[in-house]
Formats: sequence, C-alpha cells, structure tokens
Amino acid sequence: MRSQDYDRLYLSPPHLGRHELNYLHKAIEDNWVAPAGPNLDGFERDICEFTGARHCVALTSGTAAIHLGLRLLGVGPGDEVMCPSFTFVATANPIAYLGATPVFVDSEADTWNLCPERLREALQARQQQGRRPKALILVHLYGMPARLREVLAVAEEFGVPVLEDAAEALGSRYEGRPLGTFGAVGVFSFNGNKILTTSGGGALVTDNPQWAQKARFWATQAKDPAPYYQHSELGYNYRLSNLLAGIGRGQMELLEDRVKRRRAIYTWYQEHLRDVPGLRFGPAEPAGGHANRWLTTILLDPAETTVTPEQLRQHLETHNIESRPLWKPLHLQPLFAGAPMFGGEVCAALFARGLCLPSGSAMTDSDLYRVASAVTGAF
Ligand SMILES: *Cc1c(COP(=O)(O)O)cnc(C)c1O
Repeated sequence: MRSQDYDRLYLSPPHLGRHELNYLHKAIEDNWVAPAGPNLDGFERDICEFTGARHCVALTSGTAAIHLGLRLLGVGPGDEVMCPSFTFVATANPIAYLGATPVFVDSEADTWNLCPERLREALQARQQQGRRPKALILVHLYGMPARLREVLAVAEEFGVPVLEDAAEALGSRYEGRPLGTFGAVGVFSFNGNKILTTSGGGALVTDNPQWAQKARFWATQAKDPAPYYQHSELGYNYRLSNLLAGIGRGQMELLEDRVKRRRAIYTWYQEHLRDVPGLRFGPAEPAGGHANRWLTTILLDPAETTVTPEQLRQHLETHNIESRPLWKPLHLQPLFAGAPMFGGEVCAALFARGLCLPSGSAMTDSDLYRVASAVTGAF
C-alpha cells in the first residue's frame, strides 16, 4: 500500500484474525511448505463441517474450481452451458477453457440472480432445436441466494445438472442450508476481496466421492498410479498450498462473525442513507434466503435523481473512497460477442444504475460515517 493511501477506504480488503499466523508458523516449523499437508486437510475439513458437504477439494482459485467442476459434469468441446449474464467473467471463462459455449440468461429484479422464467424459455428453445445444455452455472451474486427452489425445479425438469458458483456466497444460506451444497458441485473463492481470503484460493465441494477424487487427481497433474511419471489424462497444477490453507483455517474460524458484520454494514447504510433521493438498496432476499451481504450495493433511480453512479463513484474517489460499478453483464462483453442471450433488459438496467459501496468487515462506524457523508454530499 502506498503511503498516501493510508486513509483510503477500499471496497472489500482482507480482514485477518489472530490465528492465521499460528497455522502458518506451524506449517513452516514442520516443513509443510507444499501443496499438501495438515493445513490443507484441515481447511477442507473445516469447509465440509461448515457447509455440510461430504467432500471438499481446496484449489488455487475459484476459477480453477469452476473449471474442474464443469469437467466433472462432462462439459467438453461443442457443448453448451447455461449461465447468468449478470456475473463476474470468471464464472464463464472456464466454459470457454473447455471449448464449450455459454448461453446467457437474464436476471430477475429482486435477487438480481438467474431468472427461472427466462431459464425455462431458454431451455425450451434449446429443446425445440433438439439440444440439451450440458450444465447450468447458478451464481449467488453479492452473496444473495438465487431463487433456488424455482431454478432447481426447472433444471431438473430439463435434466440439466447444476454447478453452484458460490464464490461470493460463503456463509449465505437458503432454507437454513449453506449455499454451495444445492448443486451437483459447489464452488467457493478465497480471493483477496471475498468475505474470507487466503490471498488467492478456491474450493470445490461435492457429495460424490469419485468426483472429489477425480478433481484432486486432475488438480495435481493427473499422475497415473505408477512409480514413474505416466499420464493418461490432461491435468492441471491447481492444488492450494499448505501455507495458504493455514490462512484459510484461521479465516474459517471467523466466518459467522464476518457474515454478521457485513449484514450489519448493509443495515447501517440503509438506515443512514434512507433519505437520499432516488437511492435504493438491493438485491432483496428471496423467501427462505439469508445473504452474507458480501458487498452493499445500491441503485440510483434516474426518475428521481440526476446523479449517475459514475458521478457518485468519482465524487467518492475525491474523498479517497473506493466504489465500483456492478458487474458488467457478460452478453455485453466484447469477449462473448455473439453468444446466445435470453432477455437482457434487467441486468443491463442494473449495470446502468448500480454501485458497490465499501463493505469490508473491518470497517469501523466512523469509516461508515465517512462514506455516508461523502455519498450524501454528492446529492
Ligand atoms: C471471485 C469470483 C470467481 C472467481 O474466483 P477466483 O478465486 O477469483 O478465481 C468466480 N465467480 C464469481 C461470481 C466471483 O465473484
């Protein structure tokens, strides 16, 4: 961090606790400085315990976990994979890594996640062409649970297996059950800006023991059981380091606290920015949903204010406060030009009107006052 940035408020910086260093220290003392070791096993156990998933494979990133997860679901060259347009590019890149094509679907206005009606239209249209997408990636954006009941029912009706991209949703629940455990495969990210971090890292969870074994095999260069180096399948170097898993163990102890704090930050902003004209909060929890509120997100209604999200972002920047536009929909990205898209008005409007506010769980109330008064000052 540059020295003039000492008072900069970041969007979602890492927030370490007191035990990460103990796990790191022990790993170095015991010479477990490798992508194997007791922290790695322990981190996977911690994730299983928290989520209730039977198996967990810790990986170098959430993107790697999506890549392996799609391969487990049999995605290959020429296949189609259903995917929300309103998400980070890392959700869809692994579709392209495998030589498959994304079919994008719009969001619904409440949770901002995949719209079950649009999904049904898309799958019906595919069916009429005699095609069945190989998988559906369901994202819980900003930690908000998607309409799981409805989406899972549609996916089941058309026989499409679900990969849950819960990269932003560790600690969120639906009907009491942790997100990431509803699909055939679930994915978490421990990147530096997520609710918990290992600096970089990810995890794949599944209840299928053969799949977990296969993911581990592919993640460690797919070495056949032979005394020499023999390879029958294509592998990757995707296993998480035992050092970083140690940071992860310390972080997992803090998950419930971090969710509480992020939710409190969202509520705080709601209460203190209630009277700003045209400023609204979202997304909303679906029935049975409990969000981790990874980032507090707002929308500016152009019918009620002339202030645009970009003006507000620049204004906050003059106060040394970082804010960010919402994810730019993937069907509007040059990278995916020409990909099929069902709907699009909902996520395009969210992108045009939205902004993410600083939401780090280490923020103090005086940090929050600083953001709120800077926001109010822009209007
Ligand atoms: C962060 C993120 C990913 C990718 O995770 P990495 O660990 O950064 O590779 C995937 N999907 C979504 C929705 C994310 O926010």
